[in-house]
Amino acid sequence: MKIIDGKACAQQIKDQITKEVEMIRAIGFRVPKLAIILVGDRPDSLSYVRSKEKTCKSLGMNCDTYLLPATTSEREIMDLIDRLNNDRTVDAILIQLPLPEHYDSAKILDFIDYKKDADGLHLMNVGLLHLGEPYVMPCTPKGIISLLETNNIDVAGKHAVVIGRSQLVGEPTAQLLIRQNATVTLCHSHTKNLSDITRIGDIIITAAGHPNLLKPEDFKEGAILIDVAINRTDEGLEGDVYSPRTREALEQRLSAATPVPGGVGPMTIAMLMQNVLDMYKIKNA
Ligand code: NAD
Repeated sequence: MKIIDGKACAQQIKDQITKEVEMIRAIGFRVPKLAIILVGDRPDSLSYVRSKEKTCKSLGMNCDTYLLPATTSEREIMDLIDRLNNDRTVDAILIQLPLPEHYDSAKILDFIDYKKDADGLHLMNVGLLHLGEPYVMPCTPKGIISLLETNNIDVAGKHAVVIGRSQLVGEPTAQLLIRQNATVTLCHSHTKNLSDITRIGDIIITAAGHPNLLKPEDFKEGAILIDVAINRTDEGLEGDVYSPRTREALEQRLSAATPVPGGVGPMTIAMLMQNVLDMYKIKNA
């Protein structure tokens, strides 16, 4: 079984971004800037924000982070977004999700200028993706497609089974795979007899957030597993399928798989950085 190394692939992408940003700086231009808004005090969200900020700066780009208390009114958040939308030095805006429950997330996300929507979650960008003309792609689905391409996995004509239908991962991943001519089955929590479906899939993409969702024997011989999930268990980080317990049996069964950690996760952040640079380049073309 080939291990699809997301860490190495993400590093190549980040190295290329660093080179491009160095060139931008060398010719005396303003470098790209990401603005991140975090509302509330979830420790996991704060750690994701810090990691995005750190990566952005390590690639030579600028990053401004706005930490707002959960008591901030929707109006105040909108005012901040409005300022960032109109700030010509800001190329991309990211709102760390999930927002605390009392906010209308969709309304807030749609207030971002869709041309600065770093995560590709604005209604306009969701629509453009469905039309096959994406302006900006959501980071995790974009990372999955990039991993498949870099590893020369041609999805055209293959049966891809996507497990999970969230707007963040499953649904846009299914859309992108359809555009690449895969035959896609989209499964979710109401799907019956899941393993009957996975056993006939060529490429299985799991994003349910449930450790031990499937067993190695639930895949056909030679199938490819893209395990998106990040589950925190007593034994550490695990995917929906990939774990130290299943690795050996998966090796006998599959032709390729993404590990957890070190598979899709690093690609998500690399794709966010790519989105920031791409939005800068479109604006300054
Ligand atoms: P979500 O909770 O919004 O969606 C989960 C989806 O899985 C739902 O559509 C649900 O119907 C489906 N599901 C749940 N249980 C199921 C079951 N038993 N059988 C079939 N389908 C089932 O979660 P999300 O934001 O899409 O994230 C999913 C997982 O991916 C989580 O573990 C999350 O941590 C991980 N994730 C990883 C990255 C990354 O960069 N690797 C990025 C985002 C999310």
